[in-house]
Amino acid sequence: MIDLRSDTVTKPTPAMKQAMFAAEVGDDVMGEDPTVNALEAKVAALTGKEAALFTCSATQANQIAINVHCSPGDEILINSTSHIGLYEAGGPAAISGVSLQKIDAPRGFLSVECLEGRIWPDDPHFTRSRLVCLENTSNMGGGFAWPIEQIRSVSNWCLTKGLKIHLDGARLFHAVVEKGYSPGDICAAFDTVNLCFSKGLGCPMGAVLAGTEKDIHKARRVRKMLGGGCRQIGFAAGAALYALDHHVQRLAEDHAKATHLAKELSRIKGINLVFGLPETNLVFFEISGEYGDARSLETHLRKNGVQIGSSGRNRLRAVTHLDIASEDIPVAADAIRQGLEELKKNRK
Ligand SMILES: *Cc1c(COP(=O)(O)O)cnc(C)c1O
Repeated sequence: MIDLRSDTVTKPTPAMKQAMFAAEVGDDVMGEDPTVNALEAKVAALTGKEAALFTCSATQANQIAINVHCSPGDEILINSTSHIGLYEAGGPAAISGVSLQKIDAPRGFLSVECLEGRIWPDDPHFTRSRLVCLENTSNMGGGFAWPIEQIRSVSNWCLTKGLKIHLDGARLFHAVVEKGYSPGDICAAFDTVNLCFSKGLGCPMGAVLAGTEKDIHKARRVRKMLGGGCRQIGFAAGAALYALDHHVQRLAEDHAKATHLAKELSRIKGINLVFGLPETNLVFFEISGEYGDARSLETHLRKNGVQIGSSGRNRLRAVTHLDIASEDIPVAADAIRQGLEELKKNRK
C-alpha cells in the first residue's frame, strides 16, 4: 500500500525504536524523566525560548497555549483554514471559552493588511482581542512556508497592539528546511511555539510547546488538567530526540517527492493542481467534475494499492513522508491516471 493520506501514518524506523528502547525514563509528572528533560532543554535551545513542555500531541500543545494566553470571553484572530479552527474539535471554545475570528488569507498567510481593523476597541461592548495564531507551514493553505519578513511584520504589529502571538509549527521543520531560515529566527517572533513530532519527523506521538519560563510554568498545570501529564514518557521523548538528530534534514527528500508527484499530476488530463507546484510535502489537486467526485477516486485508488484522502468535493491532498519511496511516486501517479479513466468509463 502506498499511503499518501498523511505524514502521520509513518511508523518508527528500526533505529528510532532502538533509541526508544534505550531511553532512560522516570516519572515525568514529578519532573524526573531524564529523556523528557533533555528533549525539553534541547527544544528550548533550538527555538531560543526559556522553557519547553512535552505534550501528547500538537493539538494538545495548541490548546494548552490558547489556555495560557487567553481568558474566557477573549477572541483569537486566525486564518480561516487553520488546524486550530477546523480540526481540533472545537477546543478553543470548549476548553478555554474563547471565540475565533476567522480571516481569509491567501495560502493561509495572515498579513498586517488583513488583520488591520479586525481587533476590537477597548470598550465594554466588545470581545477582548487577545491572541493571533499563525501556522507554518500552512496545511490547508497548500503547505507553503512563510516568508520570514511577513512573520516579522505580523509579529511587530501584534506587539504594538498588545496581542500575544502563537505559532502552530506542526510542520515548522518543513519550512525551516525549505527556506533555510533558523528555527531560532522564526521562533523569536512568537510568544509560544508548537512543534509536532508525529508528522514529518516520523515519531509515534508527541509535540513540544516552547515559550517563556512563566508561560511554560502555567502550561504545565494546563497539561495536567487536560490529562496530558504522563509518567515514564521518556520512551516517546527518546523517539523525538532521535528525530531531531536524524529526520530533519531528510525532509528535503519528502519535498522533492511531492514536487515530482505534482509534476506527474499536472500532465494528467482532468487534474488541476490547486496551489500550483508545492514547496513542501503537501500536494493538493482537484479532479474535474466530469470524472466524478474526490471520494469515488479515493475509493478506486484504495482498491489499487494507493491511499489518498479527499479534502473537499473534488479536492484531494497527497502527502509525502518517511515511508514513501521515490519509486512509489510514478506508481501512485499511474494509479491516479488509471483511476480517472475508469471513473470516466463507469459514468458513461
Ligand atoms: C496535524 C496538525 C496538528 C495536530 O497534530 P496532532 O499531533 O495530530 O495533534 C496541528 N496543526 C497542524 C497545522 C497540523 O497539520
